[in-house]
Amino acid sequence: MNHQQTIETKSTDHYDVLVCGGGTAGSIAAIQAARAGAKTILIESGSQLGGTITTGGVSFPGLFHAHGRQIIRGIGWELIEAAVQLNDDHLQDFTKPYQHHPEHQIHVNPYIYALLCEEKCLEAGVHIRYYETPVNAMFDGTQWIVDVSGKGTSSRLFCHQLIDCTGNALLAQIAAYDVFHSEPCQPGSVMFKLAGYDISTLNMTLIRSEYQKALEDGVISQSMFYHDIATLLRISHHSSKAALAANHIHGADSTTSITHTAANLNGRHSLLRLLRFLRTFPGLEHTTLYSMAAETSIRETYRIHGLHVITADEYVNAIRYEDGICYAFYPLDLHDENGIRPEPLESGRVPSIPLRALIPDNSHHFLVAGRCVSSDQMANSALRVAAPCMAMGQAAGATAALASRHGINPLDIPIREIHSLLRQHDAILPV
Ligand SMILES: Cc1cc2nc3c(=O)[nH]c(=O)nc-3n(C[C@H](O)[C@H](O)[C@H](O)COP(=O)(O)OP(=O)(O)OC[C@H]3O[C@@H](n4cnc5c(N)ncnc54)[C@H](O)[C@@H]3O)c2cc1C
Repeated sequence: MNHQQTIETKSTDHYDVLVCGGGTAGSIAAIQAARAGAKTILIESGSQLGGTITTGGVSFPGLFHAHGRQIIRGIGWELIEAAVQLNDDHLQDFTKPYQHHPEHQIHVNPYIYALLCEEKCLEAGVHIRYYETPVNAMFDGTQWIVDVSGKGTSSRLFCHQLIDCTGNALLAQIAAYDVFHSEPCQPGSVMFKLAGYDISTLNMTLIRSEYQKALEDGVISQSMFYHDIATLLRISHHSSKAALAANHIHGADSTTSITHTAANLNGRHSLLRLLRFLRTFPGLEHTTLYSMAAETSIRETYRIHGLHVITADEYVNAIRYEDGICYAFYPLDLHDENGIRPEPLESGRVPSIPLRALIPDNSHHFLVAGRCVSSDQMANSALRVAAPCMAMGQAAGATAALASRHGINPLDIPIREIHSLLRQHDAILPV
């Protein structure tokens, strides 16, 4: 009798920098580290780069401008410009003040963005490994030994610097560093577009009252980003440029395969119920799903407990830090059971992020970038958006490359050396 053999590939490799998570922050971190000369490996559990921007369907990153001037540029901006150009899109005039902050977000074609991330990683010399996750990480006094598991593979990797860009501080947790988790966390969302109806012919009064009744009777749950059904139908139509057709999935968490599976099942089930419900209305009988993101996108899970914890107070007062590595600009934007109430920043204020918020307390040769930056929940509701995640990714990549070059900890590099490398790669630094 033939027994199928378990396929197991043992490989051992040495790297200067290992980036875990090839999403919004991680792909930029890997490109920057490799461009700065570090031998870099990028471990991604999914099948493509870009993370929440691509696989999560949140393809409208922001904000790169504040009060009429650009505050985030560098590798993230290079990717945005390339994606805009390859899709024949046009950038807005950012000197014009906006009424609502989404007007300054940049809609990118997510498929093109994923392709460009991959191309720029490969051009920089990044070794990409899809479908893999770290399962163990140990610091032996001089380097990290990371066990990585994938589809039919297991490998042991040796590296000088780790960068956790999983969005969930998973690698930091594996390395036994402290993390924060707020209760409740913000909900996740499935991004989607609908088709098959003509918005101008709908009897909105009837639809509104029936929708309200169905909510009260519990036929459908209050889990929509837009509680007004008319807004939802307008925004979610595939011809609408606005891309915020989303539900709210409370408790959604992408940290492990088990929690992320649950988030996907809940998100898709909620969308299926909505679709069936909408098709009961006159004019909406032929509503269909035009597009749906491949997974439930996640706003918040775990954040590292860093050498500095950015507070909402520091954020809204735009405190400057001696080790500032990038700007961030977005209203405080906490989503909860009642929806959202964005709180815009006061005129002239542009917050920033210190390097210490990317370094877990009591850590060695370790950085994070992205939404798991060390911050309280309210500050994180603004810091988590795409443009600052990209800028943090670039700063972490540059710092890790320098730390590996000198064989020292990130905190021991003079900040002016990090700034100088970032400037060479077109980043904007807080002054
Ligand atoms: C519904 C929604 C709406 C939003 N709206 C906006 C908006 O309007 N504008 C804006 O700028 N931002 C918005 N954001 C926020 C922003 O998109 C994200 O916070 C940001 O993109 C997160 O970047 P990141 O790099 O931290 O994580 P991600 O981009 O999620 O990247 C994490 C990557 O790590 C990978 N990964 C995870 N675990 C592992 C593992 N164990 N091993 C290997 N790889 C792993 C993931 O597959 C993923 O590729 C929104 C977010 C959501 C969910």
